Amino acid sequence: MPEQYSSADGMADDASQKVRTIREVQSLIQQKIELPSPPNIAMHILEAVQNDDSCFAELGKIISADPSLTAKLLKVTNSPMYGFGGRVKSIETALSILGINSLKNIALSFIIVQKLHGDSTSFFDFEYFWKRSVSAAVAAKMLAPLADYDSDDIFVSGLLQDIGVLVFFHYYTDSYMEVMALKNSSEAPGHIVERQLMGLCHAELGGSLLQGWGLPESIYLPLFYHHRESCAPERHRVAVGILSLASKISAVYHSSQGRTTIAGVYQTLSEDYGLSEKEIKELLDAVATRSNEVLSLFDVSCSEIRPLSEMLQEANQELGKLNCSYEQLVMDLKQAKEESSKYVGKLIDANKKYRELAYRDDLTGLFNNRYFQEEMDKELERTKRYEHNLSLLFFDIDHFKETNDNFGHLAGDAVLRRVAEQIVQIMRSSDIVVRYGGDEFAVIMPETGREGLEVFAERIRLGIEDMFIPIDQVQLQVTISVGGATFKGKNPQVDKMTMLGAADKAIYEAKRAGRNRIQIVEV
Ligand code: GH3
Ligand code: MG
Repeated sequence: MPEQYSSADGMADDASQKVRTIREVQSLIQQKIELPSPPNIAMHILEAVQNDDSCFAELGKIISADPSLTAKLLKVTNSPMYGFGGRVKSIETALSILGINSLKNIALSFIIVQKLHGDSTSFFDFEYFWKRSVSAAVAAKMLAPLADYDSDDIFVSGLLQDIGVLVFFHYYTDSYMEVMALKNSSEAPGHIVERQLMGLCHAELGGSLLQGWGLPESIYLPLFYHHRESCAPERHRVAVGILSLASKISAVYHSSQGRTTIAGVYQTLSEDYGLSEKEIKELLDAVATRSNEVLSLFDVSCSEIRPLSEMLQEANQELGKLNCSYEQLVMDLKQAKEESSKYVGKLIDANKKYRELAYRDDLTGLFNNRYFQEEMDKELERTKRYEHNLSLLFFDIDHFKETNDNFGHLAGDAVLRRVAEQIVQIMRSSDIVVRYGGDEFAVIMPETGREGLEVFAERIRLGIEDMFIPIDQVQLQVTISVGGATFKGKNPQVDKMTMLGAADKAIYEAKRAGRNRIQIVEV
């Protein structure tokens, strides 16, 4: 790489802004860059074509002298691209069918590609390069009739539009690696980075090279301007526009920014070319199909280019699968949530049942002593906090041992159950009735003072005394002794044991006083 074109060079930076003619670029190249010489056979073909009188026979002779080129040209002529289905057997026939210019262009394409085809083990991705070039050429050829542009040269311009990149890479490998690195890291357009670091872009280099090789202006000038459409001479504007769009179509298939390019391609094809969405899809798919045919003719080993619609369909299917599994996931989740809330509900029910069982007395169905202890704590705390009243009432069946002894244990159980039922009927729902243990019951009476306690105690005593319990054809009657403790909530020293002790003492007093009576103690 000449020193002048190094990235640190000030001239290179100025050059990145300047619009230059091909003449200026040519003289720049002549001073600074050594370019590859044209392949001899290409020179002969071009000379023959320029000589109008003898060109037909001359071109046939030159091509026929190269068996491999002849075979390739016949293969192209018989390919689906031209639709002669294997009937063309000689170069003369091919010439008469395709015309001199077409055949010349195809021949030149083969020769140039062959000359510049690189080593696949090098850093340069030749497969990518040729795929991109061929699809750009195919796209350009397909766009030309849509833009009323009547020239066979557009295919060669499309094919060779990036030939400058190849030359840069072949002759200035290290510097061009820098260009590629900067292009990738900055995401700036390649031709801008090239102008900054190399002093000229690949379009200028490629156009100048092909001009130097004697190719016609209709090939090299559109190529020279394909990154600066507005600077192109008027007569080449259409061709430059085609090349520029063809390059973008090719990028749809091969560039990492293909997805962003596609919107622009659709817009141009719709607005400038008047194509419907269906026609655009067909055109883009046809570019892929024909590119594969051309790639196979060039003997460039490439993986197949898949039509855009196929890729989009696959992407949609994948998306569909993703959506499907997403929906499935949501459904599974919903079901799992329903199941779990069902289980949570069951668990809550089970816990409730378990708590009920843990706090219930099996025989009578009343709350048990454990429940009584917890509730007493709560009620006492509340009573003290608000200085309300709280009464506790204990009662114990009188001479219950005798009932057991006389009628049996089961009869005793029946008596306990009936007493429990009776007490529940007598008490208010706010009162907490428990079987304290054995034949002893307790009632916690929130918000109840001495008077209320006395009224309820008497109601209970009478309620039990008046009750007839049918046992073994006998209507059994029992009495109870009632002891009550009542608390005004003012003394912080009073605790559960104080209340229990007082009620216990009151019962004891009632028993001692003759049973079937009430004894109340204030704490
Ligand atoms: P008092 O008037 O002094 O209370 O005399 P009492 O015979 O009732 O004596 P006490 O209350 O001390 O005895 C309670 C008796 O209750 C003892 C036991 O045989 C009986 N008992 C305790 N639990 C049960 C029970 O679940 N079923 C039956 N059938 N009897 C029970
Ligand atoms: Mg008793």
